[in-house]
Amino acid sequence: MSRGFTRNKENFRCIQCGMFVIGNGYTNHCPRCLWSMHVDVNPGDRQNRCRGMMEPVSAIYGRTGFIITHRCAECGEEKNISGSDRDNAELMADLASPEPMMS
Ligand SMILES: [Zn+2]
Ligand SMILES: [Zn+2]
Repeated sequence: MSRGFTRNKENFRCIQCGMFVIGNGYTNHCPRCLWSMHVDVNPGDRQNRCRGMMEPVSAIYGRTGFIITHRCAECGEEKNISGSDRDNAELMADLASPEPMMS
């Protein structure tokens, strides 16, 4: 076993919908509601102290799959993350549609 492997595998409970999410080490967004938490400066580093809830505001389908744009409810920062195949496809399609967001 070699040390220094920093991939961070953590499980968490989604603050938005309450789902218990088994972390895969790459992302911390919830596959059901797609909300995330503002914990990374760079993906996976967990160095951000903001810890705000990140709302999924849009998604686009790119060459490597869905890219979700999250906006932090605390600081307003926007971040793009890659979706995963566990993600809620229906919600993803909604986010990817060109209709304006109503909230
Ligand atoms: Zn959730
Ligand atoms: Zn933030």
